[in-house]
Amino acid sequence: MQYQDFQVITDFVRSLYGQSFVPLHRPVFEGNERQYLTDCIDSNFVSSVGVKVDEFEQKIAEFTGSGYAIATVNGTAALHISLLLAGVMPDDEVITQSLTFVATGNSILYAGAHPVFLDVDIDTMGLSADALEHFLNNNIEMKNGAAINKSSGRRIAACMPAHIFGMPCNIEKIVELCRHFGIQVIEDAAESLGSFVEGQHTGTFGTFGAFSFNGNKIITSGGGGMIVTNDQEMAKRAKHLTTTAKQPHPYEYVHDEVGYNYRMPNLNAALGCAQMERLSEHLQIKAEIARQYDEFFNTQKWQFVKNMPGTIVNHWLNAIIMDSKEERDAFLEFSNKAGVMTRPIWKLINTLPMFSHFQSDGLTHSRWLEDRIVNLPSSVPDGALP
Ligand SMILES: *Cc1c(COP(=O)(O)O)cnc(C)c1O
Repeated sequence: MQYQDFQVITDFVRSLYGQSFVPLHRPVFEGNERQYLTDCIDSNFVSSVGVKVDEFEQKIAEFTGSGYAIATVNGTAALHISLLLAGVMPDDEVITQSLTFVATGNSILYAGAHPVFLDVDIDTMGLSADALEHFLNNNIEMKNGAAINKSSGRRIAACMPAHIFGMPCNIEKIVELCRHFGIQVIEDAAESLGSFVEGQHTGTFGTFGAFSFNGNKIITSGGGGMIVTNDQEMAKRAKHLTTTAKQPHPYEYVHDEVGYNYRMPNLNAALGCAQMERLSEHLQIKAEIARQYDEFFNTQKWQFVKNMPGTIVNHWLNAIIMDSKEERDAFLEFSNKAGVMTRPIWKLINTLPMFSHFQSDGLTHSRWLEDRIVNLPSSVPDGALP
């Protein structure tokens, strides 16, 4: 194997970060994080009540240009509640991609639904509108306004595309196709805060979008998620369902349906608020890192993954495409040993035991990418923030 070539890459990564050990993605706390956490503790509101949750919701609604934002305990919970509110019932089907983090699929199982795994686009890594169109045109019959999967007899209630590593998928076409078949779209935007299509923020094209603020994401609240929607009624329902379905009352405990304890604690929201204040600067610095990677890989034999024209990407995780699985494995081994943290993309989730019996198409691009994609260190470097 070409260890000299690998060494050129790890040397370059180290020159970007000026460190001997370079993590894949680490959070940066250089703003008001400490202050806001202290404020929370001083106020005694650290848990499920407090002003920081409202503030964090407002900040996300404003930044993404969505009507409403509802904070949740994590991104998976945001996906789960979105599915329930989209009307997904037990035994319905939900179209999604198999090239994604396991949480996308898990949320579908939590709702009691069956995932249908379709292929991704080779250039965006997101659900392929062509694969979706092909599937819908060949496998669906409409009955009383519902899209029925001819091979299973089940209703296709929703479609959950993901914006992988912040790269926007072909969401406009996906939404258009789904609308035609009466299928609700929930965007897994867990990785795409700061990514736009034609000036519109990812997560706001479908009926619902879900974000994550886990420690490894572009900004973090320690753990957390957010549902965005433009539908006021749905936003109210989302708040209700994520807060144990408790009816407002000065002191009594009246819960009117099976709710979930999915609310974000005030402490986490405080962290999220401070992170939001620096998001634009993070995005600028990450764009500069990506530009340098791009320039570097122009002189190398490997392809640096770029976003589509008309889109803005948050550069959450930079990625390259290697020549083969063997080469990828050799590079992962080499770089991690050298202290430059690199990671493969996930195993296709339809190959995991809990998803192996669900329907899928050929997944040609998904398989090809699964063998070749490697993520490179993508943090905001130490001291880079002004
Ligand atoms: C992180 C992530 C999630 C889940 O978010 P959590 O906050 O970790 O629950 C869902 N989907 C994708 C694609 C993710 O990357």
